Amino acid sequence: MSDNLLSGLEKLGLDVSGMDNLFAEEKKEPVKQEETAAPVDNTPKETEFLLEKSIRCPMCEKVFKTKNIKSARARRLGADPDLRPRYEYVDPTKYDVDSCPFCGYTAISRFFPGENLTSIQRKALQEGVCAKLTKYINEAPALPETYTYDEAVERYKLALFNAMVKNAKTSEKAYTCLKISWLMRGKAEELEAAENKDEAAIAAARAEENKFYEQAYDGMTKALSTENTPICGMDQSTVEYLLAQMAFKLKKYTESSRLVANILVSQTAGNNVKNKARDLKDELVNAIRAGK
Ligand SMILES: [Zn+2]
Repeated sequence: MSDNLLSGLEKLGLDVSGMDNLFAEEKKEPVKQEETAAPVDNTPKETEFLLEKSIRCPMCEKVFKTKNIKSARARRLGADPDLRPRYEYVDPTKYDVDSCPFCGYTAISRFFPGENLTSIQRKALQEGVCAKLTKYINEAPALPETYTYDEAVERYKLALFNAMVKNAKTSEKAYTCLKISWLMRGKAEELEAAENKDEAAIAAARAEENKFYEQAYDGMTKALSTENTPICGMDQSTVEYLLAQMAFKLKKYTESSRLVANILVSQTAGNNVKNKARDLKDELVNAIRAGK
């Protein structure tokens, strides 16, 4: 994807996909040879799964457009063990931040609406974000057709900055870090699937993934002991399961085992999460035996 000679021009709103063959016009016109013509690439484009929605910024009251996933069209394939959603042809995590182009107020979509903001937070955002980032423009710039992983990460980092300025709940900050980590995983996977692998870029993406993952794990652990559930829309056992999977990935087997045990004896956990916890328990036993 990034091998396209014209990559970078997407920022200007130009569709350069399929324009990577610079010398295509030198080919002779095909003379009615449909049978031997190269197969057309019918792979759907990411843009086909996105729609633009107008929302009002609760800080500056201006209306702007934001990209969302067409949930009726995009097909969910499942999730990574740590609940990162996987869809066919599009990574929904890239499109889960709303960012006002006029004043800089930015948050993960579920935290964006004004009813989440206290007057103290509004004041902090006004001083710490809007006063610094307000752009005196009449019209919002056009959105790119799709976001690259780097563009998406930039939006999430601005969301994290906003979360810090408004002194958001620990869970909001941890969840934002978790999603940045998922994006870096997506970026690494995209780089790994490329024909010419850029090993340095892959290693850098994986290092960023781990850095944000550890922050997310520490924050979510703290949130579970200090906040009421639901946390970021997840009930108690779902958060415990998420943390158990994260601890497992971070090789914190003692913590992971403790969380799994909690879920298995819980009176309120559903069968689905209990079954998944049992599977994780088996994986833990194997990993500990293997001394990994
Ligand atoms: Zn605004």
